[in-house]
Amino acid sequence: PYDGPTIDEVSKIRTEYLSPALLTYYKKPIMVVEGKMQYVWDETGRRYLDLFGGIVTISVGHCHPKVTKAAIDQLNKLNHTTTIYLNPVVAQFGKELAEKMPGNLKVTYFVNSGSEANDLAMLMARLHTGHMDILALRNAYHGMSQGTHGLTALHTWKYPQMPAIGIHHVLNPDMYRGPFADETPERASERYAWDVKNLIEHSTSGGVAAFIAETIQGVGGTNVPPPGYLKKVYETVRSHGGVCIADEVQTGFGRCGTHYWGFETQGVIPDIITMAKGIGNGAPLAAVTTTPEIAASLKKRIHFNTYGGNPVSAAMGRAVLQVIDEEKLQERCLHLGKKLKDGMIKLQEKHQIIGQVRGEGLMLGLELVKDRAAKTPAPQETAQVFEMLKDMGILIGKGGLYGNVFRIKPPMCISDEDADFLLYGLDKCFSEL
Ligand code: PMP
Repeated sequence: PYDGPTIDEVSKIRTEYLSPALLTYYKKPIMVVEGKMQYVWDETGRRYLDLFGGIVTISVGHCHPKVTKAAIDQLNKLNHTTTIYLNPVVAQFGKELAEKMPGNLKVTYFVNSGSEANDLAMLMARLHTGHMDILALRNAYHGMSQGTHGLTALHTWKYPQMPAIGIHHVLNPDMYRGPFADETPERASERYAWDVKNLIEHSTSGGVAAFIAETIQGVGGTNVPPPGYLKKVYETVRSHGGVCIADEVQTGFGRCGTHYWGFETQGVIPDIITMAKGIGNGAPLAAVTTTPEIAASLKKRIHFNTYGGNPVSAAMGRAVLQVIDEEKLQERCLHLGKKLKDGMIKLQEKHQIIGQVRGEGLMLGLELVKDRAAKTPAPQETAQVFEMLKDMGILIGKGGLYGNVFRIKPPMCISDEDADFLLYGLDKCFSEL
């Protein structure tokens, strides 16, 4: 049983000593003190089904025995070194990661967070191409460092500070609320991609360093671009001298079900891939993988990162890669993703409040509206159902520009019964609203 400070004591300490700018979920926050696979427990011993996985970070399960063992074994052997010495663990991890990549994407820089990974990708793109301008999507989330803060385009995360220079935001290829959402997917992908071309031709010197996108926007509310969008954009960007960056922080490692990487669902191969969160199942681990040519652009000077490629994080990352394959977690994402999506589409027939169900695999979103025709966001109802689900023992995420999108991105080890429980819970809550 839990014998630490009470939730009220922790709350008081946190209010006094931690950042006042933190976001806390739920009117009466919960305190999580233990985790096992898809479940977490609070200090009273109450169990919750965790369908948000510490914001899409617990990929293979809380405290997965194999990942935990890898960390403990490595902690007992060698806790830390840096890249000024050789170390087998990080080298092997780099090789194993390359084996999961398509094309000539085989050189990895290890860092500690998604923001750092995207910062490094921006630097590489600029050094490699000799251009400055970087294009990102509106509604994107790429991090909160000085550089990535410029890429991020969600008002909730924007501080009134000097914006990062050389960043442009193109139209978000939003198929629900965007200006071309009512077009056929093919026509919409052309029109959204046209905006990229138009922006490059009229708002830059004509050459760009990079285009970066999450294949499915995470924080922005699980927005899936129409098929063919990235193909068209990549062509345009490359024809203007730029490289294409896929932010796979949330969509990678099998989560999308049909493919190991999110970008594969759009049939493209990027030039640079950034990863974090699920790569380490909770370890402070992130990575940038690229081609040998682009990777060489940093050779002009020394690139260094104290904890980048830390042996403990690398050992955990290696274990994650193994577990995804051994436990066939990509297939599970496909199967349970379909079950959940079909189930939610069925609920949509019954509950007018469900405006759209979207996503791939276990990267799902449910947008709630007061009026289907007008698509009026329903943030209060979203908040209410969010609380009701928590009271039933189900944790999910919330996002989107209007705070009216449920984000369902559980650890990939959930079961059929867990999916049934969520569908039952949603049905019950919407019926009681
Ligand atoms: N990219 C994406 C798609 C993300 O969702 C996040 C985090 N929410 C980041 C980058 C930044 O990662 P970190 O918080 O590790 O810096």
